[in-house]
Parts: sequence; structure tokens; C-alpha cells
Amino acid sequence: MAAISLKGITKNWGDAQAVKGIDFEVKSGDFTVLLGPSGCGKSTTLRLIAGLDTPSTGAIRIGERDVTNLPPAQRKIAMVFQSYALFPHLNVRDNILFGVRVRKEPAKHFDERLKRVADILGLSHLLDRRPGQLSGGQQQRVALGRAIIADAPVCLMDEPLSNLDAQLRQEMRREIRALQQQLNMTMIYVTHDQTEAMSMADQVILLRDGKIEQNAPPAELYAQPASVFAARFIGTPPMNILPLSNSAAGLVIEGSSGPVIHPHNVDEEWQLGVRPEHIHLVEQGIAATVDTIEYFGADTIVGCRVGQASLLMRVPGQLTLVPGDAVQLGWDRGSQYFFDRKSGLRRLPM
Ligand code: ADP
Ligand code: MG
Repeated sequence: MAAISLKGITKNWGDAQAVKGIDFEVKSGDFTVLLGPSGCGKSTTLRLIAGLDTPSTGAIRIGERDVTNLPPAQRKIAMVFQSYALFPHLNVRDNILFGVRVRKEPAKHFDERLKRVADILGLSHLLDRRPGQLSGGQQQRVALGRAIIADAPVCLMDEPLSNLDAQLRQEMRREIRALQQQLNMTMIYVTHDQTEAMSMADQVILLRDGKIEQNAPPAELYAQPASVFAARFIGTPPMNILPLSNSAAGLVIEGSSGPVIHPHNVDEEWQLGVRPEHIHLVEQGIAATVDTIEYFGADTIVGCRVGQASLLMRVPGQLTLVPGDAVQLGWDRGSQYFFDRKSGLRRLPM
């Protein structure tokens, strides 16, 4: 049985529709990420699940219960916000215990629960400090502690790491994932950061403009993107998209005379997608001119021009190339993707 299900959910703000009819299910114990660019409706969706807002249409179930019209307190969920929402005048202990006290849960287990949560999060030695005396990562852990101590089977997080610096963010990413698995929490986690989604999720729900673009595990999202939007949202740099045109021998990159990318012509206008990490320098392939070179240590991103189009290639290590060099590019047939230019949807070649 699904731990959480959304059916036909919409949310209107006046004339504007922030969520335009979404359906999905979350399995118990799964880590689900709502991913998408700013303004696509991630927070709105999360707030509807939490009960902080009410959907305009549709139904939300948590476990066996229809919670669509229940207040937040009756939904048995914990929530962590981007801002942490810690009380500055309360110490760590009181911040963590705030929720369970407000809910008037039996006090006798408080000490035990607090000890367990503080141990898990490495906060035991900080219980008397106030938020102002903690680092960003420690504050973030207190916010997590408050969610964990609730012992709610479902935990919702809205961009909980966006205030942290890059290195701490990576650490906390691993910590949250480990914690979620250890405590077998059902998690819905909102982020605009595809690396967070890829590294943490069992299931990624990619949102675009209030609708679900694709719902899949990370590996499937990467290998089988449903559209140009999904293909370019996952991966750095994003997938290259090149216009194709028909020729006597089949599809070629527009403006080039070959080689042939696909041996059949098509009635639609197709685009070719190739990920930067799948492009190699070869002896004989597609003629290109080097435009830009960015060296990152482990790898180098090379910008090339192919006819009228430009593309990025990621190669391991350092190259001796300079801008203006003529190169030949190649990739496996198996790493080519095709998309219909009008709809942006993926096409499977015959
Ligand atoms: P995300 O979290 O993906 O960045 P949001 O869910 O916050 O996006 O917002 C989706 C859309 O709904 C945006 O266009 C936003 O301006 C609008 N919106 C969100 N909350 C409100 C609100 N309380 N009143 C009016 N419009 C809102
Ligand atoms: Mg948001």
C-alpha cells in the first residue's frame, strides 16, 4: 500500500494555477524527491501534503486515511523548512522538544527520546546552547532532530540544505539519507538541485510549471529521459541538443553533410540529444572546432562548434587542445537520444 497518494491535485491562487493536476504515489520507507526549477510548484505541493494549504481539487491520502481536509496536526507528519524555523531564545533541548510538548505528548519518555535523537544527530554536547551559538550544519541538525523526535512515519523537507555551503551540503545529504534509511522514514524532499535528487532519491518526481514531467528512479531519469526538459535538467553540463535534418542517406546534424546520425528520415522535425560525458575525440567522426576549454582537475569541459550548432564534451583529465583547433567527435549509437522538436518529447527510433 502507498504511504502517500495524491490524486488530481490542483491549487489555484486567484487566477493563477500553481499546481495543475498531479497524481503520484509514495511507497512506505521510500525517499521521494520533488525536483524542478524555482516556481514550478514544489513547495505548494509539499504544503498541500502537510495540510498548511488546501488543494483546489483532488484528494490526498496518508496511509489509509483521506487527509485532504484534516488540519496539519492530525496528519502525523514532521516537516523541516529551509529556514529551520528554530526559536532563537530556546536552547537546543527545548527547540527539539518544542513540538512534542505542544502536542501534549506524555512527558515520561521525553528524556529517553531526546537522548536517542541527540545521539543520532551528534548534538548531545550542545543541548544547552542556543541556535545563535551553533554553526549552520548544527542548526540544520536541530531542525532535523525536531522532525525525528516526533516519530512521525512521514517526514517532509523543503530545501533543507540550501542555506549551507557546498561541502556541508554534501555531508548533510549523506546524513539525511542514512538517517531516513536507519529510521525507515517515508520522506518527501523538495529541491531544485538535481545532484541532491540523484544522490538521495529512490523516486524522483520532476515538476515543470505545475505538472509532472517525469516520475522515475534516478537511474531511469538519467538513462531514459521523457523529454528535452528532463534530459537537460539531469546531468552537468546538460545534455547537448542538436537540430537534425533529413538527407538522402538519413538524418544528419543540420547544416552538416554527415556522417549520418540515423539511417531513416522522419516526418517530424527531430533533435539529437547526446550527453557531454558520452562524446569522445576520435580519428574520424563529426568535424568540429574547439571554442572553449575549462579545466576542472578530474576532467575538462570542451565547447565545440559543429556546423551552426555548439556542444559541450566532457573528457577525463587535461587536454592539450586550444581554441580554434579542428577535432573529430564521436559517440556510441546507444548514447543517442531523439526528441520531437515541437513537443519536446522523446522519440524511439525504429
Ligand atoms: P517552488 O517551490 O517550486 O519554487 P512554489 O510552489 O513556491 O514553487 O510556487 C509555485 C507558484 O505558485 C509560483 O508562481 C508562486 O508565485 C505561486 N504561489 C506560491 N504560493 C503562493 C501564495 N501564497 N499566493 C499566491 N501565489 C503563490
Ligand atoms: Mg519552494
